[in-house]
Amino acid sequence: MRNVRVGTLAGIPLYINPSWFLVFGLTVWLLAFRIFPEIVDGAPRRTHVAMALVSALVFFASIVLHELAHSLVAKAYKIPVRSITLFIFGGVAHITREASRPAAEILMAAAGPLTSLVLGAVFLGAWAIAGADLNQPSALDTTLFWLAWMNILLGLFNLLPAFPMDGGRVFRSLIWLVTGSYDRATRIAAWTGRGFAWTLIGLGALAALGYDIQIAAGAFGGLWLIFIGLFLESGARQSLVQQKLVHELGRHRVSDLMVADPPVVGLDVSVATMARGVLELNPRVAYCVEDAGAFAGIVGADQLRAVPELLWDRKTAGETMVPRNRLRPAELDASLTDALLAMEELDLVHMPVVREGRVVGLIARDRIVGVLRQAGLVQGM
Ligand SMILES: [Zn+2]
Repeated sequence: MRNVRVGTLAGIPLYINPSWFLVFGLTVWLLAFRIFPEIVDGAPRRTHVAMALVSALVFFASIVLHELAHSLVAKAYKIPVRSITLFIFGGVAHITREASRPAAEILMAAAGPLTSLVLGAVFLGAWAIAGADLNQPSALDTTLFWLAWMNILLGLFNLLPAFPMDGGRVFRSLIWLVTGSYDRATRIAAWTGRGFAWTLIGLGALAALGYDIQIAAGAFGGLWLIFIGLFLESGARQSLVQQKLVHELGRHRVSDLMVADPPVVGLDVSVATMARGVLELNPRVAYCVEDAGAFAGIVGADQLRAVPELLWDRKTAGETMVPRNRLRPAELDASLTDALLAMEELDLVHMPVVREGRVVGLIARDRIVGVLRQAGLVQGM
């Protein structure tokens, strides 16, 4: 299901996944026909529907604020945020990479739940001002109280130390801070997260079978808990796989895998010459293009393929290359993780390797993937 873009917040695109409409519709229906009629029983149906619509809209806006808080802290640490998306389990901010220091991750992870708790307090304050009548609650009272309660629940639920939820991230950063090992912290937090996930799944199954477990009731509440549990379990498992990949890549340097002395061509060499040259023997290599002895860019099979064969004799290396200002060269002793991330971000399969500013080789993405395949961490590709 494709996400629908609905706007931009602080420079971050906001998307809605079609699954969200399901949970929005269900929330409005539950509030309008089940929950609010029991509390404000004298009011006409249209009042209940209006209350339900306002409550659901403001609550989902609160979720967006929660994600925005994570995103703004990330941006303050110069970590790019690609999008915020509302989906069936709430909201998610697509933050492109993890924080490099535990303190940054603590702030980034805690910002969301803290925002929810503050919103809860604000709605509670508004409820107190509006009258706070518990015996004969008005429509306004009820709506404000529900919003306060939901935001507080959202804040507290996210603070559970179940990785990859916010609280789990705070928990991991604390272990990271104490042990100094990111790898170990991730492993411990992810396994704790899986424990939580399976506890939720077990409780959900009990509720679905009719046992009273306090936090959920009946088949519907039970299934919902099972779904949230499965969602958390897959997130925690993915983090473990990711941690293994990063760990494996961390054992090698760029210099171990680079192709030294790549073929060099001048700016005005034709595409035809390059296509019939080294690439025919070894398509993994790319050309380094030089302009009067200085590195100017790279041309790989991808760039050549983008030129129609009819133009091969007329187009030159200079016109086809990825210019140096669009590259992010890897240092000789850099980690493979950084090199791979740079290639992913720039959507390239080769990156020049430099030492003291001079190009000494090329690193290819499929060599890095080859390392992961050898370690049994990647199949096929
Ligand atoms: Zn959050």
